[in-house]
Amino acid sequence: MKLGVFIERDGVLNQVRLEGQHQVSPLTLDEFKVNGEVTPLLKRLKAAGLVLIATTNQPGLSRGYLFRRELDRMHDALRRALPLDDILVCPHDETDRCPCRKPKPGLLIEAGFKWHLDLDRSFVVSDKWQDAEAARATGCTSLLLESPWTRSVHHDFLLPNLVAVIDKLLQLHRSHRALVASERL
Ligand SMILES: [Zn+2]
Repeated sequence: MKLGVFIERDGVLNQVRLEGQHQVSPLTLDEFKVNGEVTPLLKRLKAAGLVLIATTNQPGLSRGYLFRRELDRMHDALRRALPLDDILVCPHDETDRCPCRKPKPGLLIEAGFKWHLDLDRSFVVSDKWQDAEAARATGCTSLLLESPWTRSVHHDFLLPNLVAVIDKLLQLHRSHRALVASERL
């Protein structure tokens, strides 16, 4: 089985506008700016054989102020800039009570089936508590960036920046592989 890294899109892979304490997702391709520092970091994960999956809640689709065609254009740009294997979107609003709006784990479970991932040894990277919660529900290890959106929910690691997150993730991945290899001897 393969191992995955689920990465929150807004605020990690692309920049967001702040309104008060809230992140505002880009609504058009013009507004969509990929975080340049992410590219070499994702290449390191890719080189380690990990499946890279962006996940994102986009309730604007359901609420009517984000259009699917525009979102597709943004995601085409994201795929061109970053070595992502997949981008999974929850298009629903809170009131839709869907199984995929994070903190619910639906997107992770769906990706697990689609990509044959061992979720117990997969990882979640985010700046938000909702992803840590989805990670906990599926057995993934969560690595959060320090931010105003982490709250006090369970998370496995809280780190100051994305470089530290990726270093930690690769260290965990290597030590686990070493453990698995030693069990096979
Ligand atoms: Zn949903």
